[in-house]
Amino acid sequence: MKLSKEQRQYLERAWETYAPNLGDAAGWLEGRGVDLGFAASRGLGVVRRPLPGHETAEGYLAIPYLTKAGPVNFNFRCIQDHNCKEIPNHSKYWRRKGSGVNIYGVQSIAWADDWIVVTEGEIDALIWQQIGVPALAVPGAENWKPY
Ligand SMILES: [Zn+2]
Repeated sequence: MKLSKEQRQYLERAWETYAPNLGDAAGWLEGRGVDLGFAASRGLGVVRRPLPGHETAEGYLAIPYLTKAGPVNFNFRCIQDHNCKEIPNHSKYWRRKGSGVNIYGVQSIAWADDWIVVTEGEIDALIWQQIGVPALAVPGAENWKPY
């Protein structure tokens, strides 16, 4: 999906808005073995004051899909200490409708040799990257295509 100039600016603004709040997720990240500094280096943040269209993600971890050209998408993950399935009208993950599906961690391709780890979740890919292993995430098992 090709992004318009306005879409790119929106994603840049979201990134700039959410990244400074990453400290809100420090405990959650630590509980999963993700170093806060490493998560910051990958542009993660927390949605405190959502941009229009991101209201559903308030309080969620913001996971930007970064490329050399900046963020091309976001996925958001609940970081509350509850079972998301027990909350009505609530999801563990949320992404903006129509935002499409991208591969997470494409910058790993630049430093991969002849193999790369592929995970389903972005956080799993981050954990691999953190220990120096090139890794991508393809969110949603149904998004893994034969090609
Ligand atoms: Zn939740």
